[in-house]
Amino acid sequence: MIDDNEPGRAAARLTAVHDRIAVAATQADRNPGEVSLIAVSKTFAGDAIRPVLDAGHRTFGENRVQEAQRKWPDLRRDCPDVELHLIGPLQSNKTRDAVALFDVIHSIDRPKIARAIAQESSRSGRQPKVFVQVNTGEEPQKAGVMATDVAALATLVRDELQLDLVGLMCIPPFDEEPVIHFAFLAKLAKDLGLERLSMGMSADFESAIQFGATDIRVGSAIFGPRSAPTA
Ligand SMILES: *Cc1c(COP(=O)(O)O)cnc(C)c1O
Repeated sequence: MIDDNEPGRAAARLTAVHDRIAVAATQADRNPGEVSLIAVSKTFAGDAIRPVLDAGHRTFGENRVQEAQRKWPDLRRDCPDVELHLIGPLQSNKTRDAVALFDVIHSIDRPKIARAIAQESSRSGRQPKVFVQVNTGEEPQKAGVMATDVAALATLVRDELQLDLVGLMCIPPFDEEPVIHFAFLAKLAKDLGLERLSMGMSADFESAIQFGATDIRVGSAIFGPRSAPTA
């Protein structure tokens, strides 16, 4: 029986998401083990996150550096093997905190932030894996490098700055068919020889898997609806 409290439901929802990943991967002739589930815990407090840790899940995403700094040191004390992903925009004045806290950064979208991470990385000796975020919908207000500039940024990140560039990330526009964006991101990554694709959220992770997603970012399907609006 699934009990009524939110934490109990989160563990059950996690299982349901894993089942859906397995079905989607199998339908796409992929191994479900190739798809890493990032549980997006933004806006949720530690007591909502703990049941998901207790269920054995270790890969989490947050979109704000300061919020993550408040929540994760405590949780990590109990679960040192947690892998924390920054999936939201990064300002250069937060780079030091971000590199100290996050294992993977999905939101590199301009040379300035790439250079700041590289500098902080050599200072601290921590080498986060990084994704370049692409603004596939060319939305003026949205983060992400334009597709025409992605190759130059990838070259800077990988070859000049020697960061551990693993793949590309996108957030499709709300009002467009996401699969067009997933297919486009997959093509860009292939052309650059990058293996990982960070794409797909609660509403569309199954189609993202169909188009090759390796890192899906799923929040509300695990933790329930968020009350606070987030960027
Ligand atoms: C909040 C967020 C998600 C998760 O969204 P859900 O719809 O709750 O699954 C994924 N990616 C990014 C960048 C986010 O900010």
